[in-house]
Amino acid sequence: MKPSTRPEARRFDAIIVGRRVAGCAMAIHLTRAGFSVAVVERDVVPSDTLSTHLIQDVSLFAELGVLREVMACGAPPLREIALHIDGVDLSTSNPDRPWLCLRRISLDAVLSAAVNRTGALVFEQTAVVDLLRSGDRVSGVVVQAPDGTRRELHASLVIGADGRNSTVGRLVGARKYDITHNERTAYWGYYAGVPMANSFHFSRRGRDLMLVAPCDQGMTLVAGQPPLDDERDWRDPAVLESVATELVAPLRGVLSRATLVGEVRAVRRMDGFFRDAAGPGWALVGDAGHFKDIVVGQGICDALRQASALSKRLVPLLRAEPSVVDAALQGWWRERDADARPMYWMAQDLGRVETDVLDQEVLRLIAGSARHRRRLQQVLAHHRPATDVNGMKVQISAMARALLRPSVSVAELRRAVGGGVERQRERLSPQRRAAALPAVRVVGNISGIPAQQGSPQWSG
Ligand SMILES: Cc1cc2nc3c(=O)[nH]c(=O)nc-3n(C[C@H](O)[C@H](O)[C@H](O)COP(=O)(O)OP(=O)(O)OC[C@H]3O[C@@H](n4cnc5c(N)ncnc54)[C@H](O)[C@@H]3O)c2cc1C
Repeated sequence: MKPSTRPEARRFDAIIVGRRVAGCAMAIHLTRAGFSVAVVERDVVPSDTLSTHLIQDVSLFAELGVLREVMACGAPPLREIALHIDGVDLSTSNPDRPWLCLRRISLDAVLSAAVNRTGALVFEQTAVVDLLRSGDRVSGVVVQAPDGTRRELHASLVIGADGRNSTVGRLVGARKYDITHNERTAYWGYYAGVPMANSFHFSRRGRDLMLVAPCDQGMTLVAGQPPLDDERDWRDPAVLESVATELVAPLRGVLSRATLVGEVRAVRRMDGFFRDAAGPGWALVGDAGHFKDIVVGQGICDALRQASALSKRLVPLLRAEPSVVDAALQGWWRERDADARPMYWMAQDLGRVETDVLDQEVLRLIAGSARHRRRLQQVLAHHRPATDVNGMKVQISAMARALLRPSVSVAELRRAVGGGVERQRERLSPQRRAAALPAVRVVGNISGIPAQQGSPQWSG
């Protein structure tokens, strides 16, 4: 992909570091609103990246003006969501809002082409290696080209959309908080020649967990998420295929005749976290600021939603006073956390290896009603908060039902309740919460930004 050929300008309204989901979305929103934008990307995009690609809300692409191109990539709309968890069937249909499983090489190609059309200045194969500062504000970046030459780019705002190991995050000293450790690893491959319906399959049985979905170019994603301590050699396709056919019925008798394209890929360590999202002259968007257990496959839509929300805050403030922009960034930080937090904990719960009688009762409760199953699907599409299916009301109903179940002993139930209370206490602990809340610089009355108490210093 060729970089934009617009003449280079050295001062920008915004510099965006990273040119994949979050970076492209930011660049499209901001350039459309009249911002001058530079995008700096150290790789060639599109290129392979460690990610699968379940997308639960394609309307986010319409907002970016790329829905037609995304759909033209050929990933079939997934209207059947087959969820089987520990013997409980939570499946639903979603004819009106199909999901999509679009390989990143295709998605990133669409998004980066759209960025090229905006006229943003794109620096490809160029890494941000340092930040420029003016007093306590970030005022630009130092970039390094592949031949080692360095140059400075100046901007009112630097946006790190540079992934989990964010360079911008490290250079501004952004703290991580609410860190969680994944209990499962991930292995996945793409198979050609799998005749199956356009449905997404999520199946967890015992310690095993599989995700299967047809994606673009006639391929099917087959992904396993065994516990970290699993001793089978999942790099061996035979292992992936045998668990897949055991857990996902439509693969039986067909996967053995299909062809694995490339090799089985793996990711082992992927701790979840929130990272300070903003400070004077900088913000982090997408994985740079927040990463959650991939079991729920939410990172792409999260990145798109965050870029949309951050842009909405920034667009009315084009070339406003720095303090006004900074206050808007702090408001966005709060908004990001409020938006992401319920799903974050739900993802961790779904990725847990050991479950208990209360978890199972919650699943049965949801499975028992079409309304609840639809609600779960809306939660997974982020149209409802996760608390709608795992909040206190649901937990209490599940507890009452478990009490009446002869197969559940009081001791088991007590242990499950104790475990749940302990997890909640840990999640809501004052230290965690304090670390999670941004302190706000007092900027007076700015419409749309809630007045906040706190230290006049930045928290980062
Ligand atoms: C195994 C796995 C499976 C997943 N499955 C799903 C799924 O099914 N659905 C889903 O929604 N999400 C999934 N995710 C999460 C999803 O991949 C991420 O949330 C998403 O990629 C975030 O996009 P991003 O643009 O924020 O970051 P990235 O895609 O990581 O992009 C960051 C970019 O920044 C660039 N960069 C980094 N440092 C610099 C620097 N110093 N200078 C210049 N450029 C730099 C990188 O080269 C990269 O191109 C999965 C993740 C993993 C690991």
